[in-house]
Amino acid sequence: MLKVIGLKKKYGKHTALAGLDMNIKKGQVYGLVGPNGAGKTTAIRLIMGLSHMDDGQIIINGTDARKKPLKVKEMIGYVPDNCGSYFNMSVNEYMEFFAAGFGISGIKAENRNLKLLEQVGLEDKVEFIADTLSRGMQQRLSLARALIHDPEFLIMDEPTSGLDPRNSFEFKRLVKELKKSGKTVLISSHLLSELSEICTDIAVIENGMLAAQGSLTEILGRI
Ligand code: ADP
Ligand code: ADP
Repeated sequence: MLKVIGLKKKYGKHTALAGLDMNIKKGQVYGLVGPNGAGKTTAIRLIMGLSHMDDGQIIINGTDARKKPLKVKEMIGYVPDNCGSYFNMSVNEYMEFFAAGFGISGIKAENRNLKLLEQVGLEDKVEFIADTLSRGMQQRLSLARALIHDPEFLIMDEPTSGLDPRNSFEFKRLVKELKKSGKTVLISSHLLSELSEICTDIAVIENGMLAAQGSLTEILGRI
């Protein structure tokens, strides 16, 4: 599903990625774990085409991400590490805005958005201004938004970071549901404990390189 080969990225003289390899197969919930500064966000931004790689290759379902960035955006749902501002939009307006970006509008968008907001437990918040929602709710809104175009692959950058235990638990429950519905998921965290119960596979990233990859038991046996 996703192959990352020898990915390299420098910011000035500072090496963020030093030849990162990853191999994610269909149906996996793949946890990318590593300390702050290890290169997780850089790797994810390169996959999403939001930053330029210096060297390497990213192949998604046989498509070279560098050559077909728009196709990649159609295949992937992205939950960024920072949702930024919602420009004073209500939850509904926010969802409509992104649905329109994928060419979904009118009654079709209304039905789809309501279904997604129900799925993440925000159906009673449709009229709320998104900026005023709690961090946990914003994170679930971000997930609903990422699902608008029904992508088969989801990438989430530190989605439970800064969430209280209850919201973190709820978010992980949603990830488990996504897995059941057949989605492939890449999820990053600086805490192995945030990934251990939801991930089928774990990759450890250190200094911009893959330090270990395998099942949770295999990884625990190595550290
Ligand atoms: P992680 O997500 O694992 O915390 P990042 O990918 O954010 O790691 O960062 C990897 C390294 O690259 C860090 O040392 C960080 O300070 C640096 N870095 C990240 N983005 C930039 C940037 N846009 N400009 C300069 N340095 C950056
Ligand atoms: P590109 O790779 O296309 O040049 P990036 O998204 O990697 O774009 O970086 C854009 C700019 O954001 C960087 O040049 C830097 O000035 C700034 N920046 C973002 N994150 C960091 C960080 N962690 N440390 C330092 N600068 C950062």
